[in-house]
Amino acid sequence: MKVVKLRPGKERSLLKRHPWVFEGSIASGRADAGETVRVEGGEGQFLAWGAYSPASLIRVRAWSFDAAERIDASFFASRIHRAVALRKRLAIASDALRLVHGEADGLPGLIVDCYGDTLCAQFLAAGVERWKTAIADALLAATGCARLYERSDASVRELEGLAPVSGWLRKPSSDGGATAVTICEHGWRLAVDVAEGHKTGYYLDQRDNRLRFSQLVRQFGCRRVFNGYSYTGGFSIAALAGGAEHVLSVDSSAPALARASEHVALNGFDAACHEALDADVNASLRRLIDEGTAFDAIVLDPPKFAPTAAHAERAARAYKDINRLAFKLLAPGGLLFTFSCSGGVDASLFHKIVAGAGLDAGVDGYLIERLEAAPDHPTTVTFPEGEYLKGLAILKQ
Ligand code: SAH
Repeated sequence: MKVVKLRPGKERSLLKRHPWVFEGSIASGRADAGETVRVEGGEGQFLAWGAYSPASLIRVRAWSFDAAERIDASFFASRIHRAVALRKRLAIASDALRLVHGEADGLPGLIVDCYGDTLCAQFLAAGVERWKTAIADALLAATGCARLYERSDASVRELEGLAPVSGWLRKPSSDGGATAVTICEHGWRLAVDVAEGHKTGYYLDQRDNRLRFSQLVRQFGCRRVFNGYSYTGGFSIAALAGGAEHVLSVDSSAPALARASEHVALNGFDAACHEALDADVNASLRRLIDEGTAFDAIVLDPPKFAPTAAHAERAARAYKDINRLAFKLLAPGGLLFTFSCSGGVDASLFHKIVAGAGLDAGVDGYLIERLEAAPDHPTTVTFPEGEYLKGLAILKQ
């Protein structure tokens, strides 16, 4: 077993069960990509078992803080079993859910979403890449699913020195390999393509917020809805289900918008109630303000503007700008559902940014609810970096 020894004083983070060891904390020791290492403090004391990643700044990701644990196929089977069991206890009301959420489930770098009978996994770090076969076997055994598609084509793999890969990892030989699956979320039918969609196919973390939006659209009687960064129209369907008369979905991805329009038909809404606009959200907000249009509800769910804290300042300006425009475009009494999924912008900073946007727009609002990721995207108390999605529900005064 290879040993990685930390520099004096660098044990603190692992002792607090934080699973990352940065390159600068290491005194000695190296290993191959994904190889299991024993991480020791300066005195030779055991700290963790972890996966070594020679190319990454996060040089070791901890598998376990228990010296007696063996990192083998049964370790992965047990972690996956635990993750699946948690989702059962959480009783998620959908046939599409996140089964494994990386560090929070003790499996750093592994994301697994389940869409009906199809699993879709991302292997985003050297450790899970090395154990892919054992992980794939354990996933099928724990879920009873026979289909597992791999979407390891996220750019973060570059930081690990891993090339992008995607394709079927497991499927019955008789299975034609269709990658489109229809799921049912809050009674709404949605088509998800695990091969063509963003990430693993759909943004499951917003599930509960889409339902809440639908309820508030109904409660406040919102008629005209702007869904900015709509992707395949999840919030648009939620708005129509909540009684909205007209929804404008804005996204820069034409295939995503085509799906949004399909979803309108699939759920029995009149095509005339929905408009799909292939455009930049910021530019669209400006144009609509210039045209004197107003909306009763606005959703802003942009992509990650700040992947890390280093990008926070530029991201803050971008968030402030779109939120300022949204405040202006909202009718008095209108509802704003605004989000940030940037790890580099925490909830309190996001709140300050949105407050600044309101000030610049010359309007105030009631902060009626704080929003977060659905519970199948858990965070553990020891890994605050896991908290990435935050949102505010605001009623314009
Ligand atoms: N709210 C969606 C998820 C949004 S993901 C849901 O509930 O499913 C973010 C989306 O922003 C992606 O679909 C991406 O295509 C889109 N996007 C990124 N930059 C954009 C821009 N400048 N203008 C419009 N859309 C953009």
